[in-house]
Amino acid sequence: MKTLTKKISVLAITIGVILSSCTNEIDSPNLESELKAVSAKTSQNLSTDRVSPLPTVSSLHGIVTDNSLFSLATAVVPSECGTTPFRDITSFYNDALINGFIASWDGNPDAIGIILDDYFIINQIAALDENFNADTFGANGEHTNYVNNRVRSLEKFWDMSDLIEVRGQHTSTLEDLDFIRLVYEKYSTAPDVVIDYFLEIAEHFNNTSNQIPENPFYASDGFATFSGFIVVGDGIVSMLAETGIDPKVVWSSILAHEWAHQIQFLNFGVFNYPVPAFIGTPESTRMTELEADFITGYYLTHKRGATYNWKRVEGVLSSFFEIGDCGFTSNGHHGTPIQRMEAARLGYELAISAQKKGKILSQQQVHDGFIDVLDGIVD
Ligand SMILES: [Zn+2]
Repeated sequence: MKTLTKKISVLAITIGVILSSCTNEIDSPNLESELKAVSAKTSQNLSTDRVSPLPTVSSLHGIVTDNSLFSLATAVVPSECGTTPFRDITSFYNDALINGFIASWDGNPDAIGIILDDYFIINQIAALDENFNADTFGANGEHTNYVNNRVRSLEKFWDMSDLIEVRGQHTSTLEDLDFIRLVYEKYSTAPDVVIDYFLEIAEHFNNTSNQIPENPFYASDGFATFSGFIVVGDGIVSMLAETGIDPKVVWSSILAHEWAHQIQFLNFGVFNYPVPAFIGTPESTRMTELEADFITGYYLTHKRGATYNWKRVEGVLSSFFEIGDCGFTSNGHHGTPIQRMEAARLGYELAISAQKKGKILSQQQVHDGFIDVLDGIVD
């Protein structure tokens, strides 16, 4: 929990960075490009696959949340990976959000911290807060039954009944100003008069922008926590589905991957790895992410798992792995798309060989199968 003083100083630092070379006027020619440049920074909360194995926390604007290990923003910056259909879609929504913000902005620098930082954190809190109803999936609940069935399948397949709670995330949550007030009251130490001021800013943007909070990035989380939660936002599913993938397969793939992280957490200290798991180095993160992909390929294609054929899985994962970053030295490095696909394919091969004998391997056996092939994947 942070104090208001700290909140204001964080804001001041942020604003100092953003506005260091330009004036505070909307029509400043520099300001728009500065804001766009900073969009990568502000969208560090736009995560697609963050893992919080250990309760490390960081704070922004007085609200404490889980530390982010992976940023979609890094992935969408054009780099040696080049453009792809998914990256084109995320760039479109990223630009729409920044342009929408600028169009409604009256120049008040505090609005940046509220709308482009706190909103993301508030929606993470919404997905994890026990008092908030986050048990529906899809913007109108249209995927709830499917997700519940998929969760039951994962529970049975991995023998993990009632251990994991999957929670949804929706942009509509941020339309509820009473809820935003509640989050500030509960998770920040800002006095009521300051919260009133924050709410005025929120109300202004919600009423004047068609991107705030409707932009899918506000519900783009996909992560697993060590405490047994999986959070998947509507936005990440809808953006992937816009590349032409059946949203059901998107849900299954994301859930299978995040579930794999829960298997790793459950076996933390039991599974042996060539480098320690979850220490935050690129090598460690790549290893646990590639294992999650291996486990995903195994479950999705197993005849007693999701029963997809490999070609279908390969098509979906190729879009999915476009999220895979090209920042090879980043602490959140997931492996290249080629390495990730190879990991998933080898998981599929393990499923074929195991199901010939009609069996589901134990978590330990699947882990051992991955360790056997890890060097080959990375090479
Ligand atoms: Zn992951």
